[in-house]
Amino acid sequence: MHNRSPRPTSPVRRALNRTLLALCLTSPWVAAPAAAQNQTLNLYSARHYPGDEALYDAFTRATGITIRRVDSDDAGIVARLRAEGAASPADVVLLVDAARMAAADAQGLFLPIRSAKLEAAIPAHLRAAATPQGTTWFGFSTRARVIVYDPLRVKAEDVATYEQLSHPKLKGLLCTRSGSHPYNLSLFATVIERLGDEKGQAWLNGLVANMARPPQGGDTDQIRAVASGECGVALTNSYYLARLINSDKPEDRRVVERVRVMFPNQASTGTHVNIAGAAVARHSKNVDAAVRFLEFLATPEAQQYFANSNNEYPAVPGVKLDNPALRSMGGTDFKAETIPLSTVAKNLTKVQQMLDRAGFR
Ligand code: FE
Repeated sequence: MHNRSPRPTSPVRRALNRTLLALCLTSPWVAAPAAAQNQTLNLYSARHYPGDEALYDAFTRATGITIRRVDSDDAGIVARLRAEGAASPADVVLLVDAARMAAADAQGLFLPIRSAKLEAAIPAHLRAAATPQGTTWFGFSTRARVIVYDPLRVKAEDVATYEQLSHPKLKGLLCTRSGSHPYNLSLFATVIERLGDEKGQAWLNGLVANMARPPQGGDTDQIRAVASGECGVALTNSYYLARLINSDKPEDRRVVERVRVMFPNQASTGTHVNIAGAAVARHSKNVDAAVRFLEFLATPEAQQYFANSNNEYPAVPGVKLDNPALRSMGGTDFKAETIPLSTVAKNLTKVQQMLDRAGFR
């Protein structure tokens, strides 16, 4: 049992406390949240987007809390958090993709939190499953995993669903990045959740059988390969295509003119949507400020930044888009899959084994 006996307070200390209290109640100079002053928040970020600095500056202006950022890729951040253990100075962890959030969560790197603001703002399917201790991670922006295709070689009605990508009609036409890349793992985890293991395995086998070349490169490389005629159809995250649409480089313009985009599964389960997310670090010494930062990411100001500067979609419903490329792709006016992204966590190991069985590199 703890036995906390308060130390006797001296009359001088009592008088000082009263003066400070009076000052706090009357002076406008201390009206700002005193705890926030000179506070620093350590952010471990795997977001590699150039405009994010402006977002962090806006948080500092609003709260007085300074951001100190450690940039790395997701594997680097996870390795660093593990090595630092309880001594880690990390307060907030930013990772891209539900598969990566789930993997870091499974290693116990996140602190479950409760926030009425976050629970009201972020749809339940875009965050970790709630436990009695709280929720570990939240998605703050979304991206659709869409199909791009060459309209001269592939009919729109033949690529209207993810399921159709394994149809023999598309033999020798499909291009994709590595099957084990988190963007694909997350998509495959939700498709397999719907199809079941047997049909899911057959679907993955069919994708491998349809490939125009071994998996290679990133999503933008797949879009370019469709435009050049090397591939007929490919998978990409929506913001890579939006980036090309917003570009004024002649070579990007030519790519955009040559390809078409399909938001798959509009007549059925909806297009797969993934997140970029954030969590409070397990050993944060600044939990209140860290939660405040997460709540800031859910404000309309921050949500608009994701959509208008980084070509992502807001995670909070009803935020207005002001992005010509996203508008030309139909804006937010598409049916999105609502399988909880926490499903991805559950299926991750299984999907990797199924990819190995299919010979999907
Ligand atoms: Fe990316």
